[in-house]
Amino acid sequence: MAEAPSYVSVAVDVAVARTDRPFDYAVPTELRGRVAPGQRVLVPLGGRRVEGIVLRGLDEPSVDPEKVRPILRAIDEEPLLTQELLDLAPWLAEQCGSTLVQVLRAMLPGGVKNRTEGPREREVLWPAAGDAPPAALGRAPAQARAYRVLAENPGRWTRLELARAAAVAPAVVAALLRRGLALAVPEGAAPGGAAGGAAEAAAARGGEGRARAAAASSAAPAAVRPGAPARPAVPEPTPDQAAALAAILPAVAAGRHEIFLLHGVTGSGKTEVYLRAIEACLAAGREAVVLVPEIALTPQTVARFRERFGDDVAVLHSGLTLGERRRQWRRIMRGEVRVAVGARSAVFAPFRRPGLFIVDEEHETTYKQDEAPRYHARQVAVERARRLGVPVVLGSATPSLESYVAALNGRGRLLPLPRRVEGRPLPHVEVIDMRREREAGNRSLFSEPLAEAIRGALARGEQVLLFLNRRGFAPVVLCRDCGRTVECPSCSVTLTYHRQTGLLHCHYCDHRAQPPAVCPHCASPNVKYYGIGTQRVEELAREHFPGARVLRMDVDTTGTRGAHERIYRAFQAGEADILVGTQMVAKGWDVAGVTVVGVVHADTGLHLPDFRAAERTFQLITQVAGRAGRGERPGRVFVQTYAPDHYAIRAAARQDCLAFWEAEVPIRRAGPWPPFCELVRIVVSGPEGAGVDERARALGVVLRRSAVRVLGPAPAPIERLRGRVRWHLVLTGDERLRLLRAVREALDVVRLEDPLAAHVDPDPVSML
Ligand code: ADP
Ligand code: ZN
Ligand code: ZN
Repeated sequence: MAEAPSYVSVAVDVAVARTDRPFDYAVPTELRGRVAPGQRVLVPLGGRRVEGIVLRGLDEPSVDPEKVRPILRAIDEEPLLTQELLDLAPWLAEQCGSTLVQVLRAMLPGGVKNRTEGPREREVLWPAAGDAPPAALGRAPAQARAYRVLAENPGRWTRLELARAAAVAPAVVAALLRRGLALAVPEGAAPGGAAGGAAEAAAARGGEGRARAAAASSAAPAAVRPGAPARPAVPEPTPDQAAALAAILPAVAAGRHEIFLLHGVTGSGKTEVYLRAIEACLAAGREAVVLVPEIALTPQTVARFRERFGDDVAVLHSGLTLGERRRQWRRIMRGEVRVAVGARSAVFAPFRRPGLFIVDEEHETTYKQDEAPRYHARQVAVERARRLGVPVVLGSATPSLESYVAALNGRGRLLPLPRRVEGRPLPHVEVIDMRREREAGNRSLFSEPLAEAIRGALARGEQVLLFLNRRGFAPVVLCRDCGRTVECPSCSVTLTYHRQTGLLHCHYCDHRAQPPAVCPHCASPNVKYYGIGTQRVEELAREHFPGARVLRMDVDTTGTRGAHERIYRAFQAGEADILVGTQMVAKGWDVAGVTVVGVVHADTGLHLPDFRAAERTFQLITQVAGRAGRGERPGRVFVQTYAPDHYAIRAAARQDCLAFWEAEVPIRRAGPWPPFCELVRIVVSGPEGAGVDERARALGVVLRRSAVRVLGPAPAPIERLRGRVRWHLVLTGDERLRLLRAVREALDVVRLEDPLAAHVDPDPVSML
């Protein structure tokens, strides 16, 4: 190994795009050989200390060595990112229109924030500017006091605890963080090293934790591997599976880059294909990365990976604390496991020799990160596979139009699995025209054919799934005199009545309010609840089918840890007859007892102002329908709709992707909309009266000069969100980077400063 470098190039963690370039630092003698690329370090920047990630070692700095400052400490003992991921980062930053450090942060275990992926670990504060409060705090005595208290006990307090200890308002602590004078660091990952007594004490605490974790992780595989349970029987591949494997396995064995689009109807045995491909990958001495849309929603899929590969699997699920996640990450890096299964951010699993990437349910929108860096895990998986020269398998019963068109254009190979295993029939789907039902005098939620089928299923002891993609009890509170609705005060959406709380809820900001006794607009007492949510479906199912045991699964019933799994298991064990749910129940489910599926209102998402509305509707109905008849008994599906002739609904009724694509492609091509162009959306937002509309218009004017196609500006479909006014612009063109460059240049001209903000979203999955 080469001599440890005396200098390193570091990406510093500051939020400003202008400083998005690496800085050089010296490695002090005591840290020589202890900092490597991919490792986090604490470095000085101006008068502050900031976190940074080492990009590479340097023999000599690019600037005057006299001016180069030393690294203060190493935050981790080992790198968290491999060279391959460090090399990928600049590309991804460019693709997302984000900064390098944002991408590096997203790559680290724990991701951008832990908000979407699991419980937050306790975060403790560190002073970032030395022991005495900086001079600038002279005019902010409360902040200076809090700073002094923090400097005396670094790494001891959370934000709230510090506020209490210093007897200041939480906003004062928030200000310290915002000004970069305090650093919030996960406890245990506390900066270790030689910076004062208190820091040493914290380092010792952290060191102990690490030693324990290391002991646990090195002991576990050795202890468990010899006693691993017998592998379950592996089924003989069907002819369709065999044909798909005949294409995939040689690419895996030879380490050849190829994109496979495994298009298999629900229950066709896609997972079995993944398992065999992974076996081949491990046999070739390489590791495999498997992405699933959401671990909690795919317990069976994950269980099958565990069954087949035992302790060779690291599951990165949302129940992990940040510490557990880091431990899994290290096991992956050290090659202690060879298969990583996880949601979106697992695409950055830091294996040394990845040999296969699998993206299950590749059409799912959860693969898109909805905050900066706004990456799409499928795109990242394909790019990693391309750079590494290894295959990637994208699987779905309803592939995205993007992947389908790419395969047609030779950027991918289509592998169809058109039949269910063991000759099980696809469910029979009936489209029910609800207008007819109404004309015939049926005002009920359940059409006659659906009600009849449910009664039959219940009589035979079979199970029923009722799907509605709208939660709550009644989504609209309407005044029958003035015709106006009750909206959220901070968002331009109607409030939904929830029976459990007896309150009106906003589904965007969670604002809650008492249901008004009289109309807030005209004081009429004639206010009524309209529309149907899952809570109402549950209640109506109980009324309509007396004696039936009804369960409900939606965001409101799965808020606590493990609740999803509990409901799922209860239903699977036959403890309920009817399950009412939102799209949570559409995914990856295999309940053999389900013979009837009712799509209560198929049009819910059909008329949203989004070019993907039809595609989403088609995918959702097809996926839900696929939940019927997975066992021995055939299934029946009832799709209730007011738009029975819409092509998305007709194609979904036949579970016919080709029919859908044939109708959808000309529409997208004519737009053009993706995948026939690149699309970047800009959302300009700010408080009322801050000139959001005016700034958005100015942005439109500047953007039009740069010869990209600009739609808008216009108020976003959700015009106000969490108290902020929102306008949006949509840019389309042939090259994403060109669009992003135009946006960057325009934002340099039309500056949007606090409290205004612009969010730039390439290839957005939501246009709302
Ligand atoms: P998909 O992922 O396409 O929905 P799965 O892989 O879950 O399908 O397979 C559906 C069911 O069929 C599972 O219970 C699986 O164990 C079983 N299965 C898969 N392949 C075979 C096969 N070749 N022979 C028998 N059963 C199979
Ligand atoms: Zn009114
Ligand atoms: Zn709201």
